[in-house]
Amino acid sequence: MLTSVWPHALPLLAGLIGLIIGSFLNVVIHRLPLMLEQQWAKECAEFSGQDAGLEAKTEPVFSLSQPRSRCPHCGHPIAWHENIPVVSYLFLRGQCSACGVKISLRYPLVELVMAGLFYFCVTRWGGTSTAVVWCGFSAAVVTLAMIDWDTTLLPDDITLPLVWSGLIVAALQWNPGVSLSDAVWGAVGGYLSLWGVYWAFKLITGKDGMGFGDFKLFAALGAWFGLTALVPIILMASVLGAVVGMGLKWSSKLREGGYVPFGPFLAIAGLTALFFGPQAILRWAGLGLL
Ligand SMILES: [Zn+2]
Repeated sequence: MLTSVWPHALPLLAGLIGLIIGSFLNVVIHRLPLMLEQQWAKECAEFSGQDAGLEAKTEPVFSLSQPRSRCPHCGHPIAWHENIPVVSYLFLRGQCSACGVKISLRYPLVELVMAGLFYFCVTRWGGTSTAVVWCGFSAAVVTLAMIDWDTTLLPDDITLPLVWSGLIVAALQWNPGVSLSDAVWGAVGGYLSLWGVYWAFKLITGKDGMGFGDFKLFAALGAWFGLTALVPIILMASVLGAVVGMGLKWSSKLREGGYVPFGPFLAIAGLTALFFGPQAILRWAGLGLL
């Protein structure tokens, strides 16, 4: 009995850790944009010579640990037993215990996605440093996708470390199949290719087609998957982005200005490359011989 359970013990433990990390990422996804906004407001005020102290006193200062999580509707502080990943959501039947307002399904979904990704990485690579770094990659990519979808921002605080860590992981040879030079050229190629597309689009149409965060995220994917993975990843992200963009336009759910963030699609393509390998994307597209 024990011997049949044991091989699954480590991935299950990883899945459990994934749930907890997912719960933390929900906080990051919600608060990091608010923290950045406060920081920008403060810097703007300082730059224009206003007294930033006044504003800072009136607004609560957000950090990842302060203030404690509250219901956004009624302000009810969330107790520890209401904050257990997925379990609390089911127990509370998706409602705030104080005011009964619906809790978004995306909180347990982010937790379950992280559990699945951690389970997958440890099943595939066992209890190795390779598994750990790919768990970290997954957490960063999911966070970026959600923040970009919500705010059309890809914070440098996550994209840049993701580039560096991809290069370091390759240098340490923790990433099978991606050498250091492959990772470096992947990062350079990822950044410059989208930078080129951005300027070509801007010169032709006079509009910004994407943000600089997209270049950095694509550079990070290049660092983690290597130069040759850039084509399948951008192919999948573009097709997905076009389909979802048209769907939103059709159902007139497009946000003001008609901007569809590209980061979530880069992220989904990156996670697909993690699961199936970048070459699988080319096979699906009928380009397997490329
Ligand atoms: Zn409430």
